[in-house]
Parts: sequence; structure tokens; C-alpha cells
Amino acid sequence: MFQFNVTSDACVKCGKCIPVCTIHEVNRDEVTSPRGFIDLLGAYQKGTLELDKNAKSIFESCFLCTNCTDVCPNDLPVDMIIEQVRNDIRKKFGLAWYKRLAFFFLRNRNIMDVFARFGYMFQTCGFKMVDKQSSMYMRNFPIIKMDRLFPSLKKKTFLNSHPDVIHNGGKGKVGIFIGCLANYMYTDIGKSLLEILQVLEIDAYLIKQQKCCGAPQYFTGDFDSVDALAKFNIKYIEGFVNELDAIIIPEATCSAMIKEDYAHFFHDQPEWKVRAEAIKPKIFMATEYLEKKTNLADILASKARQSESITYHDPCHARKMQGIFKEPRNLLSKNYVLKEMSDPNRCCGFGGVTMQTEKYHFAKAAGLPKAAMIKATGAEYVSAECSACRMQLSDALHGQQVDVIFKNPIELIAKALREG
Ligand code: SF4
Ligand code: SF4
Repeated sequence: MFQFNVTSDACVKCGKCIPVCTIHEVNRDEVTSPRGFIDLLGAYQKGTLELDKNAKSIFESCFLCTNCTDVCPNDLPVDMIIEQVRNDIRKKFGLAWYKRLAFFFLRNRNIMDVFARFGYMFQTCGFKMVDKQSSMYMRNFPIIKMDRLFPSLKKKTFLNSHPDVIHNGGKGKVGIFIGCLANYMYTDIGKSLLEILQVLEIDAYLIKQQKCCGAPQYFTGDFDSVDALAKFNIKYIEGFVNELDAIIIPEATCSAMIKEDYAHFFHDQPEWKVRAEAIKPKIFMATEYLEKKTNLADILASKARQSESITYHDPCHARKMQGIFKEPRNLLSKNYVLKEMSDPNRCCGFGGVTMQTEKYHFAKAAGLPKAAMIKATGAEYVSAECSACRMQLSDALHGQQVDVIFKNPIELIAKALREG
């Protein structure tokens, strides 16, 4: 059942969304613009548009960046309606084999752990390594034909590298929901978060049985997987949430999914909607919690100021969905020279699994202006609290031969504590 009905007068055609639309910027066609999507969505809901391959391709062209909903005078949730249509598309056309395989692994973490271990051992057979950001360059990979930078799997996952509970003095108790990319690939994020909690003397509880938050499946329209993953995570978190001060997540997308999208997703399952909303007050993005609920900013201010400079990119799921943009800047600016981009809020162009594979040409085009903006700041580091943005922007920077290192703010904060 659709959560939102698009009536014929829902869009007043004011055009405010056009200059901010990520897909329209790289594919200047009215059809692939918020207004165009709204027209087609209205026709689909009225039953006058058939979901054929052309409609599928159009609806899969939206980056789900929420820029349009941010400026729309009628608050039209274009992204959320498209997510619901993508579920119908998935039911009609099915999912590509590699998406089914990836979502199967993300639904079954024990199997994913074994796969990741094999992947770690054999990844150099299919990929050419490039160093510095411990990423790989995918050169003419035989199945997904594309040249691009891709993060490498680590020998041991973050969750399998540490005990369940790390006692740091008991000044507080927080659970860590690490997210899949930081668990399997960008493992230094979790390690850095543990270092920060140790300095703050806050006990860390690793949420070891966590499953994927379901965001990749949600954006792809695999609602069966989202239903199973969200229910598992909610039920699991309910088991210990009252014993913790907070559950912190160093990833904007996972945090937004659990905090905001679970309740939207369960709009027609009242019991689960209530349960999703009940855990919400304890869910925080990591920098949000550290800045608002601890004395980390004061500790950082007492450390040496570094000569290194950073620029901060606002992930769509942090700034627009959760209103978080001051917190990472406030912490980072204590020890680094902050050089703002001309438009830090512009979408990086990640766009989800389909955009990163079948529609990679759009993702690549959307990443170019962002890479140029980062270069123009002259900063040594670019930071964003989102590993999906990191994957996309590292690829864009590599493609443009821009020599800027990408780090999660948590890694940069831990570095400042270590070196200060
Ligand atoms: S969500 Fe982003 S890409 Fe999609 S229509 Fe809105 S502004 Fe355009
Ligand atoms: S901002 Fe909203 S009302 Fe205006 S054209 Fe875009 S979708 Fe329509």
C-alpha cells in the first residue's frame, strides 16, 4: 500500500527543485527531474502508466538525495514515493543476480563473514591494488564491467576483532552499531571510535549480532529484505536498549535508516511502527552524541592544533534527514583548519546499488563537480560521516587525480587525540 498519494495538483510546477536535483544536473531532461517523476508517479497511481522497462529505467535514475523535498513548498516526498515504486518494479522484474547475492550475504552475517574472509584472500586476483586509502581499482572486472575505485575487504571484521564489552571506567555506556562498510572495509572507523570512548572513559558495548540496517535494500526496492532486517534489528536492540545511554552509529545512512526510515517503512504495520519509534531516542550519529552528550569538544580544545586542513562533505542522510552538520564541524575545527567547499551540501552522487552498477555513468558524472569542489579548497583531507559517500568520492577523486585523503571524522578526531 502506498504511504503517499500523488494527486494531479500535488506539484505546483514552481521549479524550485530543478536547480538542486542531482539527476537533472547530469541528465537535463524534464522526465528525470522531480516534476517529471511526480507526473509519472501520479499516472502510475491512477493506473494510466504501465511499469515497463522505460519506466523502470526512469524511476531507477533518481539518486534519492532528498534535495527536492528540502526545497519543495508542498513537501512532496519524491524520494519516498520512488522507493515504494521500486518495490513494485522489483516484484515485476525481479532483482539482478548480483543484487540478490549481495542482499543474501547482508541478510546472513555469519555467511557474509566467511565470504569476506575468502574475498580478502582472493581480491587481488580480480582487482589491481592502489594504496594510500587501502582501496582497490576495479579494472575490467569480468562480470561488472567498469573501471573504478572500490574499497578493499579487511582480513578481520571490526566486530570480530574486539570483545563484546570494553570497560573504560564506566562514566557512561554506549552501544556501537558499526554498519556493514565499516565492519568489512573501513575498519579503522570502529577502531578510532573505541579510542575516543577510552579517552572519555565511556564503556563500549559492541552490538555483535547486528544485521545490515537495510538501507541498500530499501533504496533498491527489496522491501522483503528490509522487513526482515528491520524487524530483526528492532527486536534485538529492544533486548538491551534500556541498559545503555545511547546507541551510536558512525554512519549517516545506517543512522538515518534506523532512526527515521524504519518508522516510515512500517507505516502500514502499526505495531512495528510504534516499536521503531520507541528505540529512536537512543539512536545517535557518532559525532552528534560525542558533541552533544560528552565533553569531547573541551578535551579536543585542550590538545595541540594541527597545521593540517580538512574540508567536510555533508552526507544527504546526515544534514537533510537528521539535521546534523554543526556537530562534526565543531569537533573537527578544534584541531584542524576547516576549509569549506563552495557547496558542502551538494549530493556526492552515490545513489545506491543500482546507481553504482547499472547506472554508474550517472554516479560518475555526479561525482565530478564534487571532486572539483574538494580540489578547490586545497585541503589535505576530505571528511564525511558516511562510508557510502567515502566510496563514491574516493572514486571521483581518483578519477580526477585529485590527491586528497578521505577519512571519517571519527578517524580524524582519534588522530588528533593521539597526536595532540
Ligand atoms: S531525490 Fe534527488 S535526484 Fe531524486 S528527484 Fe529529488 S533531487 Fe532529484
Ligand atoms: S518544488 Fe515541489 S511543487 Fe515545485 S516543481 Fe518541484 S516537486 Fe513541484
